[in-house]
Amino acid sequence: MSGSEFTEEFTVSGIPVSPGISVGKLFVISNEEQPVPCHNITLEQVPSEWERFENAISKTKQQLLDIQKQMAKNVGDSDAGIFEAHLLVLEDATILAAVKKQLAQRLQNIEHVYQHIISQYAKALANVDDPYLAERAADVLDVCRRVISNLISRNISLRDIITEPCIVVAHDLTPSDTAQLPRDLVLGFATHLGSRTSHTAIIARSMDLPAVVGLDPTPHLQTGLMAVLDGYHGLIIVNPKPETLERFKKEEQRHEQIEKELTKLHDEKAVTPDDRKIILSANIELLSDLPDCVEAGAEGIGLFRTEFLFANRPDLPDEQEQFEIYRQAARAVKPHSVILRTLDLGGDKLFTSMHSSTITNPFLGVRAIRFCLAHPEIFRTQLRAMLRASTEDNVKIMYPMITTVDEVREANRYLELELKSLRAARIPIPERIEVGIMVEVPAAALTAPALAEEVDFFSIGTNDLIQYTMACDRGNEQLAYLYEPAHPGVLRLIQYTIDAAHAAGIWVGVCGEAAGDVEIVPLLLGLGIDELSVGAAQVPRVKRVIRSLTYSEARQLAIEALSYRSVKEVRARLRALAQERFPELLEDIELLA
Ligand code: PEP
Ligand code: MG
Repeated sequence: MSGSEFTEEFTVSGIPVSPGISVGKLFVISNEEQPVPCHNITLEQVPSEWERFENAISKTKQQLLDIQKQMAKNVGDSDAGIFEAHLLVLEDATILAAVKKQLAQRLQNIEHVYQHIISQYAKALANVDDPYLAERAADVLDVCRRVISNLISRNISLRDIITEPCIVVAHDLTPSDTAQLPRDLVLGFATHLGSRTSHTAIIARSMDLPAVVGLDPTPHLQTGLMAVLDGYHGLIIVNPKPETLERFKKEEQRHEQIEKELTKLHDEKAVTPDDRKIILSANIELLSDLPDCVEAGAEGIGLFRTEFLFANRPDLPDEQEQFEIYRQAARAVKPHSVILRTLDLGGDKLFTSMHSSTITNPFLGVRAIRFCLAHPEIFRTQLRAMLRASTEDNVKIMYPMITTVDEVREANRYLELELKSLRAARIPIPERIEVGIMVEVPAAALTAPALAEEVDFFSIGTNDLIQYTMACDRGNEQLAYLYEPAHPGVLRLIQYTIDAAHAAGIWVGVCGEAAGDVEIVPLLLGLGIDELSVGAAQVPRVKRVIRSLTYSEARQLAIEALSYRSVKEVRARLRALAQERFPELLEDIELLA
């Protein structure tokens, strides 16, 4: 990491998504030039490197054909024709021959060799005095980026390029990039894209990593500059003066003091002063999140996002591997339970081995239960693993993104088939396993009475429910102002879902990020929620909130909130209550603004 010409203190702001303060050197990952690894290989490795290359070329070809098809459908054949040029470059015999020759001569990894040859080729084209050919240089570079990204998606991660403690700055980080950040070296991160409920932000919180997203665009963030990352207020202060550092040190001490007070609640129940008990559990993505959940005093796991077991690998985890992971989670949280959510692939969780990266509108596409029902072999393997883990007696199963009653029935049919076959094999599966659904699509909320007849519980996924209700991408930082759990439309859907669940005699929880929003918690309580599942770091805060007001006060609050017309009015009422009852937690509320 090198130094830089900027020495004055300056501040860049963004959206705070994961609390905490860190001080260290910036490490800026340029989006334009993906870091291409460079290492030597042996002569024996040449054939396997070449095979990787051929696979990447055919994958790229498929992607280009997909895009071409899509464009032809959307805008007509003539514009789609530009991809002809890309395909020609991709399969250009001269380039391929040069790569093959250089691979054997240089004995370096294929991405490095390919990038070297392509950049020479593009330079040569750009220098020709012919505008048509000069334009082709851009095509060549574009194709190269695609091939390299297909090559390195399986082979390098940020782990390979981060070698010393730093604050990572990137245009964007995918959820799987984030899950792989080396926690011992990365002090925090900031990205230009992203929002509070993007999975990248959710993972940052579960890793306890200070994070800021939606950073204002600036060219002045450079690798090697010293900076403070303020995950409470969404700031990066570059070249901090000694007095700035001193101020942040005091801030940190104040937060540590609040944390210390909160840990005193560890063994207390999440119960209101008038005895309304709420199950307060935690959300996890990976087994490595388990110790934090236990330490935070969570009552089990209300959401295990199992799709992260499928990330960052070229193959699928088999039944045995999944079974062992689910069983470990179940054992770790006893006597409480674990809710295993079946695969929720798609949306911003596009893991390369299973999804084409070229689909349009991924959040409205073949995601979650839709993907599972379209790939019964993957779904049934997962159900078997979950059922085998249920011999621990504290496992519940949950389907994500349910939209219709038929989907639930179809999923349950597969579950029943696996159940029968395991019982036939004399695996001691418990008599009764609770099966629930996530209510995160408005159509599901509005048909909650019918869905409630099919399942044992509901868990409201506010992250998606808000995005689908407000017609705003949960990951788009420019729409953060619209993305609001306190919108009267969202509140009515939540209320309707809770009432339908209770009318059918089943319990209902919330496992979206709104469940950890300390301003919103009293409202959810008043609407009648039975369970809240939040990131481990939020557990003590939410417990503090629940213990600070009576259920009857919360009921009153919910009635009032439902009578308001705007988010502003609802938020003002919620904030006034928060200021009165748990003012020390309000700093974090900036996180939610
Ligand atoms: C949700 O949508 O609220 C939820 C908890 O699921 P995810 O964030 O994984 O989409
Ligand atoms: Mg969801």
